[in-house]
Amino acid sequence: MSMTNKEYDISAPTLFYGAGERSGGWVKLLSERFSLYPTCFIDKDTSKQGTELFGKPILSLKIAVESYPDCNIFISTSQEKWEQIIEELVTTALVKREQILNFELFKEYRSCFYIEHSVAFHNKSIAFCISRGSSVPQFATDFTDCSHIPQQLLNLRKQTIKTLNSGIPTSLPCENCDQLRKDIWLSGGSGELRFVEVSGSWTEKVGVCSMDCIYCRADYKKAERILFENVVENSIISYSENMILNSKISYVVDFLNTLEKDNLLDAAVTPVRVIFGEITVTPGGNELLNVLSKKYNLHVLTNAGVFSDELAAALTNPRSKMIVSLDSGTAETFYKIKRRNVFEKVCKNLHQYCQFGNVELKYIVLSSINDNVSDMDGFVEICKDLGIATAYISADKRERLAGNRLPFETINAINYMIKSLKSIGVQVLCWNEFTSGDLELIDFN
Ligand code: SF4
Repeated sequence: MSMTNKEYDISAPTLFYGAGERSGGWVKLLSERFSLYPTCFIDKDTSKQGTELFGKPILSLKIAVESYPDCNIFISTSQEKWEQIIEELVTTALVKREQILNFELFKEYRSCFYIEHSVAFHNKSIAFCISRGSSVPQFATDFTDCSHIPQQLLNLRKQTIKTLNSGIPTSLPCENCDQLRKDIWLSGGSGELRFVEVSGSWTEKVGVCSMDCIYCRADYKKAERILFENVVENSIISYSENMILNSKISYVVDFLNTLEKDNLLDAAVTPVRVIFGEITVTPGGNELLNVLSKKYNLHVLTNAGVFSDELAAALTNPRSKMIVSLDSGTAETFYKIKRRNVFEKVCKNLHQYCQFGNVELKYIVLSSINDNVSDMDGFVEICKDLGIATAYISADKRERLAGNRLPFETINAINYMIKSLKSIGVQVLCWNEFTSGDLELIDFN
């Protein structure tokens, strides 16, 4: 089945440009979806040249194109680098634009990263994203038989893309979502998964958390709940009695195995993002971390209010990480935002987690609450002290959904903090919750 803009010569040798960590995923995808197999790899890195990848030689560009003059080339790097690499290839005059397959296999249409590359457990259904409301495109499943899910997921993708590109206004929440954009995507939504989300909202319509952040919109806050005081450290845990994760761990495992069997997911590369209220205090949560970390790279969103041996063990995989929304640099502001008096404890836990692996911090900027110099300087100091390599800056999702812009003072404060973090060598990334208007004023570069 051809899914391309025009036919290509499948019998011509296919040279994969890029022998890095993304290349394995591309080899799998192109061989399975388009019956294209690498003849050899090309890489600029001279230490790789002369070695092999997947049993195929890694060559310099010059040697490769001289050896295979009638070749197709596929750029097997991350998508952001394609334009630049194509430019380089064409200007060397060694390669003609029509030899490069990437844009033959891809088309321009309206879609989003989540539709193309993500899957999320969404209550008792499967969705592309979990954080944009309950009416996002999804299909129901009770997870007792996962074997049909990959095909259903691909069908849902294709149907959603078709609907979004029909030219007729739709009632999908995607229409008002800032993730939707016209761009170049793999034809018809047949791309592999680059992102799996497992969240507390999947288990029952509740989650468990040890903090009570003022910006949290979790459904369980509205649900009936029982408050247990001082159950874990100084925190309060709130949860519904129906919250039983243990019995459902096997569903997650079966589901991921099925995706892998159907070649939608590469366990060695695809991160599994764990978002759970607070996974480390969710009954069965540490067991879930333990099971998943044996096979997957985990990106765990946690508040670090408790120290979990299972999470620490998961971090020993260099591809895994934990992301902690600290949102403050002083104990006073931390208390104002998290409504738990555990700032010192969290900092102590972060120190401990850093001994095991990759810890990243996040700062959700809240106007008039944490956009002041003492909190921002305090946060920068903590990053320095912990040796944090990457920090994320985010806006308050509630404001973005309401379309509210940040005040200029807050934008200035954000730019101040970005500069301070960069001055100590921290990579600063944007957590995608800013309105596009605010993003134009924030200097992440
Ligand atoms: S466009 Fe927005 S709402 Fe639709 S799937 Fe993507 S992230 Fe979710």
